[in-house]
Amino acid sequence: MTKVPAYAAAGPTEPLSPFTIDRRDPGPNDVVIDILFCGICHSDIHQVRNEWQSSMYPMVPGHEIVGRVVEVGRDVVKVQPGALAGVGCYVDSCLACGHCRDNLEQFCEKGAAFTYNGTEMDRKTPTFGGYSTRIVVRDHFVLRVPETLDPAGAAPLMCAGITTFSPLHEWKTKKGDRVAVVGLGGLGHMAVKLARSLGAEVTVLSTSRAKEADARRLGATEFEVTKEKGTFERLRGRFDLILDTVSAVHDYNEYLRTLRPLGTMVLLGIPPAPIPLDAAALILGNRRLVGSNIGGIAETQAMLDYCGKHGIVSDVEVIGVQEINAAYERVLRGDVRYRAVVDVATLTR
Ligand code: NAP
Ligand code: ZN
Repeated sequence: MTKVPAYAAAGPTEPLSPFTIDRRDPGPNDVVIDILFCGICHSDIHQVRNEWQSSMYPMVPGHEIVGRVVEVGRDVVKVQPGALAGVGCYVDSCLACGHCRDNLEQFCEKGAAFTYNGTEMDRKTPTFGGYSTRIVVRDHFVLRVPETLDPAGAAPLMCAGITTFSPLHEWKTKKGDRVAVVGLGGLGHMAVKLARSLGAEVTVLSTSRAKEADARRLGATEFEVTKEKGTFERLRGRFDLILDTVSAVHDYNEYLRTLRPLGTMVLLGIPPAPIPLDAAALILGNRRLVGSNIGGIAETQAMLDYCGKHGIVSDVEVIGVQEINAAYERVLRGDVRYRAVVDVATLTR
């Protein structure tokens, strides 16, 4: 075991504060990574504050991890010391069930080991995430990060990147498709960049005008303010695909009616309470409402390779770990442009 400095929440109303965790000695299939950067996903805030009623404390959040490999177990061939590596939302699974064999490890029948607020596959040892200086991960779950990408900007690809890349491919987004992105935050701004890179015509649906210039710079051709009168009526029947990244309760039905017949709305945001659904909003037009949860390891690697090829990273604000509680408040205010990323070196300064 190695003692490692981290930042943890002791309970749902506690601020994050310095904490020490143990990282295991590497086994034959393990990769030891010294963390450089870790993104702050809105899921970190939902979980720290127990908004999904599934939190375990102390909690060291963080599942948008980029670092350098410093040591590998004797059977590891995937990465070598010195490589730039990433870790996303889970660190282990059974690798034997149908879902694991279908490259959907996140749906492992035994339950994947999530990077934090979970347990290892022994179902006893708590997992701790990337607000820490080092992580030890089974090789299959380590991602190769293209060396051409800025490591801070690449960190959010491990969650925000794959979560938006996966449904764009699942629903076969192509040139000229009308794609709406609801909410311009961490996920939303990646959705705009990725959809645009596939040739889609992207519309951002935002709660205010404040992010219009940014949306256009990121690749959107249209920008609509959902709080303005008449917006939803004007957009009726418009979109092929909607990626809804909103973290708060909002009326799905209004958005559904902006789909063309047979269009698809993908829920990515996980609001803390259920939202009523009007059957007519789906039925009139055979519209589809689906969800999408991160992505498998092979698809995450494909996303990283794609981003490497196209030079796509997140727009990030790099912060010191001491600013983390203030950064949470800024995420909640929609004030971050567009992902806060912790410079992990500040944990030891
Ligand atoms: P974020 O950076 O906070 O962005 C969320 C955006 O939603 C905000 O920037 C804001 O955009 C919009 N928004 C906030 N409150 C709203 C409201 N009341 N009505 C309408 N729009 C509102 O969060 P994130 O990190 O992108 O995460 C977004 C959600 O996805 C979270 O719930 C997170 O837990 C979830 N998530 C899901 C997955 C998955 O696998 N499905 C993976 C990662 C995260 P505007 O300012 O443009 O209005
Ligand atoms: Zn996330």
